[in-house]
Amino acid sequence: MALRFRNIDIISTSWLGRIPVISGAHGAFVILRGPPMRVYLETFGCQMNELDSELVRGQLTALGYRFVETDADAQVVLYNTCSVRELAEQKALSRVGTVGVRKRAGEDLILGVLGCMAERDGVDLLRRHPQVDLLCGPSDLDRLPQLIDNVRRARAASEAHGAVAERPSRAVALAGNRSRRSSTLAAAEDGLESLDLSRAFDPSARETPWSAYVRITRGCNKFCTYCVVPYTRGAEVHRPPEHIVDECRRLADAGALEITLLGQTVNHYRYTHGTAVTVDGRAAPQVGPGLRAFRDAPAAVVDTTTFADLLFRIHEAVPSVARLRFVTSYPRDFGVDVLQVMRDCPRICRYLHAPAQSGSDAVLARMNRGYTVGEYEAFVWRVFEHLPDATLAGDLIVGFPGETDADFEATCDLVRRLPFKNNFIFKYSPRPGTVAIDRFADDVPDEVKRWRNNALLAVQSETSARVHAAWVGRTVDVLFDGVRAHAASPARTAGAVAVRVGGRAVDGPVGGASERWQAVGRTKGDLIVAVDRPDGPSARELPGTVREVRLTASRPLLLAGTIVSDE
Ligand code: SAM
Ligand code: SF4
Repeated sequence: MALRFRNIDIISTSWLGRIPVISGAHGAFVILRGPPMRVYLETFGCQMNELDSELVRGQLTALGYRFVETDADAQVVLYNTCSVRELAEQKALSRVGTVGVRKRAGEDLILGVLGCMAERDGVDLLRRHPQVDLLCGPSDLDRLPQLIDNVRRARAASEAHGAVAERPSRAVALAGNRSRRSSTLAAAEDGLESLDLSRAFDPSARETPWSAYVRITRGCNKFCTYCVVPYTRGAEVHRPPEHIVDECRRLADAGALEITLLGQTVNHYRYTHGTAVTVDGRAAPQVGPGLRAFRDAPAAVVDTTTFADLLFRIHEAVPSVARLRFVTSYPRDFGVDVLQVMRDCPRICRYLHAPAQSGSDAVLARMNRGYTVGEYEAFVWRVFEHLPDATLAGDLIVGFPGETDADFEATCDLVRRLPFKNNFIFKYSPRPGTVAIDRFADDVPDEVKRWRNNALLAVQSETSARVHAAWVGRTVDVLFDGVRAHAASPARTAGAVAVRVGGRAVDGPVGGASERWQAVGRTKGDLIVAVDRPDGPSARELPGTVREVRLTASRPLLLAGTIVSDE
């Protein structure tokens, strides 16, 4: 087996307990010495980060690193961070602080900050937190093994010279604005593609081996005024469809029943063939087209794989995948061609996560979202016209600069009018580097943001209750993914999962009994379903299987049912 990272071929075929040799443009060198190092990796934030962490894990495991469950057992501690809201950064920084205490007490650890916070804060983060040894932005994760090795070499060298280095050994890989400097060239040289292509396909690398993420685009070109993603993840780059289909096929071969395609505006996927190739003629990732491209009818675009084409291709090529999903949909430019493919392909889930962000035109304009409330609603009703059993979820921000009581009330009205099964509701968090922080004063006081957040959650809860209640009496396929216990004794809850939506615990047992085991899963429309089981072992038989379930009761964020074959 030969893995390929940016300009580097890893040519060893057997790693553990041996010394892997890396050869690249600068000749061969040894990357690891001694017994495998123990790594702890913790992930904050979105599905994109979860996938990045899985790829990092596969890459380091192939090089002989061993992953451990707690940071206390690790020699290398890595935090894959999120910058979307300040709170997410604070969580990661508090972990960084704890590791700092350990290092100052003399523990020999390598501490790495990966992901969006590393990219956003850059070397300032190193200045403020000297305990951090390496920074690696999301566009440079393929370089992580080199960075760790650099830190180790520098440390070994200073130890060999019998002195503690005057300046701590640091390693940094950040994209800056590199990804926006040139269009096709930057994309064609995209080392990250090699990281995706070197995916380990190891079911044990995923908590739920039956479910997997595949990214179809990276980065974002939309520049909503509140959002750091276009700066931290760089320009929107679209992967070649052949790479995506092949990845789905290999995941299916490794047991994946459900694949979720990832992109910040996933429906904007569009790959024009023949325009981005490597020197040896292979298809390469290409920078996404401007928004104007979506004004053309897809049929008029020659030799292009649209998002609808891609969905159809995966559906046909990988029939063993029972569920094909995608997130996040951008409400504008969501073509009817996509809805038709969703209608015609039974294994494509009729579920849309399409954030509205606000129910006020004035706020949407300040957010630079590019649509009005009327256009958003028209999009939603178009979805239900083509797919009457679709489910809809989204994100909403409260307390955006200048949001008046009337603007907020308009958002509540939108949630009352449209059948959102759930919305993730966020308090606006001003982010350094974004347009909003420079252009608009953060003028909604925090207590007002908090009040609006709670008030909107209450409105959403009523809408969710209506949406969930409408499913009672129907029979649906459920893919089980967890087990939970409702018991007086904490011992009986061991091994159980809490059911959470957007970080919030979903209601307790549906139906009234106080002590029992439940298996929990999701419908194709991403509705959470709990099914009673007589004991733990029989509950644990279900995760990773799809069963027909008759839905019998509902709560705002949860359905209860019975497995048809048990009746
Ligand atoms: N690309 C997706 C889209 O446009 O719908 C969203 C990706 S973003 C990582 C996830 C969500 O975080 C956004 O939909 C938005 O609601 C929220 N978000 C982003 N920046 C935020 C900020 N500065 N303050 C509060 N919420 C924010
Ligand atoms: Fe952020 Fe807007 Fe891009 Fe979503 S579409 S990632 S909210 S800039």
